[in-house]
Parts: sequence; structure tokens; C-alpha cells
Amino acid sequence: MSHALGIYRLQQADSRIDQTNQRLQEIRAVLENNSLVQAVRSRLEASEAALKEAEKGLRQSEATAQAQRIKIEQVESSLYGGRVQNPKELRDLQSELTALKRHLASLEDKQLEAMILLETTREQQQTTLKELRQAEAQVISQNSSLKSEQDTLLSNLENLKAERAAIQNAISADILQKYELLRQKKHGLAVTTVNEGACDACGAGLTPAQAQIARISTQLFECPTCGRILFSN
Ligand SMILES: [Zn+2]
Repeated sequence: MSHALGIYRLQQADSRIDQTNQRLQEIRAVLENNSLVQAVRSRLEASEAALKEAEKGLRQSEATAQAQRIKIEQVESSLYGGRVQNPKELRDLQSELTALKRHLASLEDKQLEAMILLETTREQQQTTLKELRQAEAQVISQNSSLKSEQDTLLSNLENLKAERAAIQNAISADILQKYELLRQKKHGLAVTTVNEGACDACGAGLTPAQAQIARISTQLFECPTCGRILFSN
């Protein structure tokens, strides 16, 4: 296989891979940028943040109530432990205990509120998650033709990549490097054909001598105008 034929085939494979990737990108954009899905997704993010807040709130109110219970136990043990005998001190401890218990009741109310809030928030998050799945399913069914095109393209892409790898194996490293560099500079098209005596990419005409070289040379011949490698059969 001549050098030019080898990289011409590589170019064909790369061009098809590029086209496939571009179409896949378009399809992905349509499937992902659906406004309904986006709206539900952002509501889900908000409800997940609210759920985290509610969990934190409950943990804090549990800890506060627990600390209050410990304080109560300490006062109770002073009050009933027998070490304090003085009636005034006992009365003071008793009224402190009453105050601590009253406050505990309000802390427990808050804890209950936090539990209810957590429950509500969790339900909301679950509901929104279901809505997101429904919205996604709706988009998929609306775009079922796109989805099946996507599947086909993805499997084509695998085949193209395998095909490309096989072609690449037959090309020497220095030519491959030249090709890759040229492809970067020339918007993906490094190799083109000679069409009716002209470069198919830029349209510049070749002299009969240049066309002859492009046809028979075993060396790579570049278009004198655009610099792309010319393949002529
Ligand atoms: Zn050209």
C-alpha cells in the first residue's frame, strides 16, 4: 500500500469518526438540555439541600435535648442524693429542676418539629426524584428516534475505531505524525483527493506535471495551495 493510500484511508476513517462524534454531541445536547428535565433537576437539587439541612437540624435538637437531660439528672442526683440537707438549698434545687424540666419540654417540642420537618422534606425529595425519572422517561419516549439513532451511532463508532486502528497499524510513525499535525492545522482534513485535475479541498488546479506526480509518486505530495496531502488514483 502506498503512503498516500494508507493515510487517505485513515483520513476517511477519521472523517467518519468526526461526523459520528459530532452527531452524537448534537443528540446528547437535545436529550440533556430538555427544559422540563432541567427544571425538575434543579428542584431536586434544592430539595436535597433542604433534606441535608433538616437532618442537621434534627441532630442539633437531639443533642441539645440530650444535654438538657444530663443537666436534669445531675440536679436530681444532688436533690435526692442526700448530701444536700439545707432546706433553702433543697428548695433552690427543686425550683432549678422545675425550670430545667420546663425547658426540656420545649426542647422536646422543637425536636418533634425537627422530626416532622425532616419527614416532610424527605417525602418532598422522593416525590421530586420520581418526577425527574418521569420527566426523563418522557423525554426519552419523545426522542425515541434520537435514542435509537444514538445507539446505532455508538455501535458504529466502536466499529470505526477498530477499523481505524487496523489502518493506522500499517502506517509508519513519521507519516502518522505528519498526518496528525496536518489534521490539526487543517480543521480535520489532512488528506484529500485530486478531482478533475484540481485539489478537492481548496479547488486549486494542478499543472499536468503536478497531477502526474500526485498520481505516480511513492512520496507524499502536498497541494501547492492549501498544503493538504493529495491522493490520486
Ligand atoms: Zn488544496
